[in-house]
Amino acid sequence: MSFSKLGLCDPILKAVADVGYKNPTEIQKQAIPIILSGRDLMAAAQTGTGKTASFVLPLLEKLNTEEKLRSRSIKALILVPTRELAVQVEANIAQYAKYLNVSSLAIYGGVDSEAQKDRLLEGVDILVATPGRLLDMVYQRALYFNDLEFLVLDEADRMLDMGFIDDIHKIIDRLPSDRQSLLFSATLTDDVRYLADTVYDDAAEISV
Ligand code: AMP
Repeated sequence: MSFSKLGLCDPILKAVADVGYKNPTEIQKQAIPIILSGRDLMAAAQTGTGKTASFVLPLLEKLNTEEKLRSRSIKALILVPTRELAVQVEANIAQYAKYLNVSSLAIYGGVDSEAQKDRLLEGVDILVATPGRLLDMVYQRALYFNDLEFLVLDEADRMLDMGFIDDIHKIIDRLPSDRQSLLFSATLTDDVRYLADTVYDDAAEISV
């Protein structure tokens, strides 16, 4: 199966070809159609399976309409456990979005927040964030979620291991409830399933 069968637009297919991917990985084959259909998703997938592209590509496809992008409010929030992952996921988004008019930003702790705050106030379509720094920015009134349509919890098991559960709940409480939610985790432990129950009601579930 090739990427062109997955329902992605030409600018995304061209960016994927530029990176050198020939065919979608298993998680991409399974997740992309589900996400494009609008369903919530819980996916068990390790790092290295191509999981990042499996949610970034369909998110870009769904966000890439002129009407949606007229305002630079946050439409997709991707929560990740670490600064390294935030940087890496945002770099992937930039790569896959290079022929689209979609902006992205990573915010994370351990660095001065002023530059991140300035960028946020300029507006961004896709925000990748660690939970602690995201809440800082919320409390500083540097961001709003009124137009948020997509929530991704990436490496959910690691976020729980790192003690982010309370922060995650505080964040989810502020998001519009009519959003599409996606959760990725290396393993679907009881704790992850418990978190998932607070995120959505009836998600599709896949495992690779
Ligand atoms: P991830 O699981 O998202 O951390 O991705 C692991 C690695 O696989 C990254 O270096 C990606 O660039 C690469 N990758 C993602 N999708 C594909 C694909 N369809 N074909 C080849 N490599 C890929």
